[in-house]
Amino acid sequence: NSKGFDLRDRPEAATLDVAREAFRTHVWTAAPLLACDAPAGETTEMRSPSDPSDLVGHVTWASAETVTAAVEAAQPWDADAATRKTVLNRAADLYESHFGEIFALLHREAGKTPLDAVAELREAVDFLRYYGARAEGAPPRGTFACISPWNFPLAIFTGQIAAALAAGNAVLAKPAEQTPLIAHRAVELLHEAGVTRDALQLLPGAGDVGAALTSTPGVDGVAFTGSTETARLIHRAMADHLDPGAPLIAETGGLNAMIVDSTALPEQAVQAIVESAFQSAGQRCSALRCLYVQEDIAEDFLKMLQGAMDALVIGAPWDFDCDLGPVIDAEAKSGIMAHVAQAQSDGRVLRTYPTPDHGHYVAPTLIRVGGIADLQREIFGPVLHVATFKARDIDRVIDAINDTGYGLTFGLQTRIDDRVQHVTERIHAGNLYVNRNQIGAIVGSQPFGGEGLSGTGPKAGGPLYVDRFRRHDAPTTSTGAWS
Ligand code: NAD
Repeated sequence: NSKGFDLRDRPEAATLDVAREAFRTHVWTAAPLLACDAPAGETTEMRSPSDPSDLVGHVTWASAETVTAAVEAAQPWDADAATRKTVLNRAADLYESHFGEIFALLHREAGKTPLDAVAELREAVDFLRYYGARAEGAPPRGTFACISPWNFPLAIFTGQIAAALAAGNAVLAKPAEQTPLIAHRAVELLHEAGVTRDALQLLPGAGDVGAALTSTPGVDGVAFTGSTETARLIHRAMADHLDPGAPLIAETGGLNAMIVDSTALPEQAVQAIVESAFQSAGQRCSALRCLYVQEDIAEDFLKMLQGAMDALVIGAPWDFDCDLGPVIDAEAKSGIMAHVAQAQSDGRVLRTYPTPDHGHYVAPTLIRVGGIADLQREIFGPVLHVATFKARDIDRVIDAINDTGYGLTFGLQTRIDDRVQHVTERIHAGNLYVNRNQIGAIVGSQPFGGEGLSGTGPKAGGPLYVDRFRRHDAPTTSTGAWS
């Protein structure tokens, strides 16, 4: 693909080819996985975002009654720390040995490209092993609700569960409504590895199931990854219904910026921008949303950037050449397209492209803005906003970025050492990236998490994360930003 990394050179490629054939027409099923009998809700079809004629599976949703029964049936994991570690490692092995099927699910249910699917499986496996290695410690809090988004339907879903289980809690897992089939398969593998049913139950459902979970007494803590708006609702529901000591561990949205000054290496900066803004079709919380380019180089630099965008391949995520797959569903597409249409009518679209006519594809798009304050909200797709700045105004740019109240990722491209120090000391962001792309996170060596409206900390994939799921912890540290 045009990012210069060819998955076909990797050993996973053969497995991906086999999976493509073996699971091309497979139809999965998902339903609540409970430690008790309880009435479930309706059953609906799941269709692929890259091709809505592709039936991926059927899901039976949890109902309000399912939630109540599951909370009652939940029991902290009755296994010592060494066993918990062994079981989580066994689950990691099972994820790896089911790679083909998981890859097919990531492709068909979530629209993931081969590169994204491989990276996601790796991250999920890393979370299981890393948190499993931290199973020793103070006792569990009790029962955790783990509520996850669709954009990393395996990795984030697994990471939350693995951390809560490593500490010995009971888990009620609520995957995103767009990706219940992947979640169901993951929980089956965790059960097969030896996690007991009463310690891990699955509640597929939409926001109403999440809302029921976060307001049912008996839930002792909530791990949430998703939008800042939903975190606000959860924060309120918990304050009204749950024990005041129940922690909310939240990873939320961002309005992520990058500054490129006139000393930056242009090829390196363009590559970093293309990866940060368009990989995963921009559906990463870390993705670059607003680029600031120093005025003196802006004209040539933006020409170069658009040249790199011209080379991006939009298409079927099975294809090894594909750079951008679809966005998750029709609703996501129409929200993004409404934003692009508004910019088009204002004459601010610098570059966009045609898309395949089936499936929920959105083209990489470049939109001119005055500054980050013009972005009213996080546009969760392959849309990059660009502004220019004068060198003397760099502190104003930093203030504008900080004034959004978010603080997830920030990127800087420069060859001036003093500027690296000046800017990174002042920017409020959980993750700073200098002279590289700004979407990376590596379990155990590059933990990930935001500040302000972007999350509560501590960082996922870091040494302090599992401790938040234990009883000796300090009281809730949810950010005041949401109150
Ligand atoms: P979302 O907030 O719409 O949904 C996330 C989860 O919350 C889903 O399971 C959803 O069903 C559930 N939910 C919805 N309403 C609820 C309610 N009232 N009470 C309880 N649960 C409720 O987010 P999304 O669209 O699934 O994911 C995209 C968002 O996630 C983006 O904002 C992105 O930035 C963010 N995200 C953040 C990180 C991070 O690490 N900071 C990682 C991935 C995604």
